Amino acid sequence: MIPLPWSYVNLWRCIGCGLCCINYDVVLKFDEWLRIVQRFGVGVTRAGLNKLYLGKKPDGSCIFLSRIDGKYVCTLQGMKPIACKLWPFRILNRPKYGKAREALFNYKRRRLYVYIDPSCPGIRWGKPSPIMVNHVIPEFIEIALGIRKKQVYSTGRLLYSLDVRRKTSGLFAHRKM
Ligand code: SF4
Ligand code: SF4
Repeated sequence: MIPLPWSYVNLWRCIGCGLCCINYDVVLKFDEWLRIVQRFGVGVTRAGLNKLYLGKKPDGSCIFLSRIDGKYVCTLQGMKPIACKLWPFRILNRPKYGKAREALFNYKRRRLYVYIDPSCPGIRWGKPSPIMVNHVIPEFIEIALGIRKKQVYSTGRLLYSLDVRRKTSGLFAHRKM
């Protein structure tokens, strides 16, 4: 689908539907691939003609996708590729999909163009809310610029309940997508 400007979005929140981890191939940067194979072995990745990808299960979903409490959960937390962290947003230096004025986002004196893939069910369309403008978009921008690693607004809410359970029971080593 053609990405649309961020300014059409009232709020985005990952609802853990898992669609992005089922429908798409995840391209890895070389350093991401290296870290993953050092920890999990080369079998969790695959090579294309000139790209490296995360591996898939027989049903086509990402090899690191699990289902907990009725939600899909990423078990690669801490090593999650930047492509996964940024989905469904695209942060660009120049407008790429048209509607430049609507896609423009001023971040600390930088003019960036922010789009979102409309296929993500976590989108609520409408006038951007303060949380969208002040937290969600800046967090995605900071991840794209490499000045932030930790995900708060750019990840699913199941993260928090799993975190609590992990701290109290020690059962969960990983967190939500
Ligand atoms: S990012 Fe969107 S498509 Fe992916 S799991 Fe969350 S809501 Fe679903
Ligand atoms: S978010 Fe996690 S489960 Fe989903 S595609 Fe990326 S690594 Fe796989």
